[in-house]
Amino acid sequence: MFVLPKKNELGFFEIRLESIGGLGANLAGKMLAEAGVLGLGLNGSNFSSYGSEKKGSPVKSFIRFCDTEVEIRDHSPIEQPHVIGVFHEALYKTVNVVSGLKADGIVLVNTTRDFDEVKKDLQLEYGTLAIVDALTIAVEENTKVNTAMLGALYRICDFLDPESMRNVIRKTFEKKYPHLVEPNICTFDRGYTEVEFKTYEIPVTAEDKGFSRPLPQLGYLTQEIGGVITTQANSILKDLSGSRQGFLPQFNMVKCIHCAACDNVCPDNCFVWEEGQDKRGRKQVILQGIDYQYCKGCLKCVEACPTDALGDLREMIGYAETNRVKQNFPYVAGRMA
Ligand code: SF4
Ligand code: SF4
Repeated sequence: MFVLPKKNELGFFEIRLESIGGLGANLAGKMLAEAGVLGLGLNGSNFSSYGSEKKGSPVKSFIRFCDTEVEIRDHSPIEQPHVIGVFHEALYKTVNVVSGLKADGIVLVNTTRDFDEVKKDLQLEYGTLAIVDALTIAVEENTKVNTAMLGALYRICDFLDPESMRNVIRKTFEKKYPHLVEPNICTFDRGYTEVEFKTYEIPVTAEDKGFSRPLPQLGYLTQEIGGVITTQANSILKDLSGSRQGFLPQFNMVKCIHCAACDNVCPDNCFVWEEGQDKRGRKQVILQGIDYQYCKGCLKCVEACPTDALGDLREMIGYAETNRVKQNFPYVAGRMA
């Protein structure tokens, strides 16, 4: 009979996937759970938590495994996992993705950066960091990020049989989309082989970090004096960078003819304009650039642009912040912008 390598005090091996809507973490969680239950005969459960079912909003998927003699009577979110999978680096800004990691736990991150940079941003003090460039694999194979992440997760959860996942991929695609079988198996295998590991030693005094539930920014204890709502009925403070799935539009002003075709299709008011003059000195509004705070990376503007003034660019950490042109709203949170 198969026995799990690690368990908590209730007898569970637990995995938490941290993602944003649209990247397929929910499906990846289901597939992992099925592989443990149907492939290895373990007891297992999986569920996800998300707010509005909207592309770009934070999503968590939870997977619990236990030996067959243990019953799963715990259906609460996983707070102290053995393995964490982070599908998108923009999550660091809003979510403490490594919250509650076990001292001997593993965090898998989809990233192009090196170990120490990722560790610093994660504020990871100890444990094993695993990195894989799942987006590049998915782009090169013309598939999805979640398949490459699944490959890396199978390598981490080495009690799961990778051949069973290859069979699931074959069964999923071979009837309707046979041309997708090989690229998806290749994506899975590349995630499995290309993931790299680095362990940060546990300080002698370190114990498992407890789970910390973030407090809401505004509640009955933190309400502003008089309950004044300073930004009523607008989304001026909304940051959509977590919605981008690895690409953003890059603006080249030299090639721009200021035709506003991009602005007409942009659903999020990202383009910033200023009054100026054309070459003959006539009044004209001139495109200044893109306010990436509101850009969700749909790339509709790139398709609409009649010149090469907009192109799609693989997003690097810090690019959006450096090249952002701020919208000139008259007020931000009740103050002059
Ligand atoms: S569509 Fe292209 S050329 Fe027209 S304003 Fe936008 S960036 Fe400039
Ligand atoms: S990709 Fe272009 S159209 Fe889409 S939200 Fe960003 S700026 Fe607007």
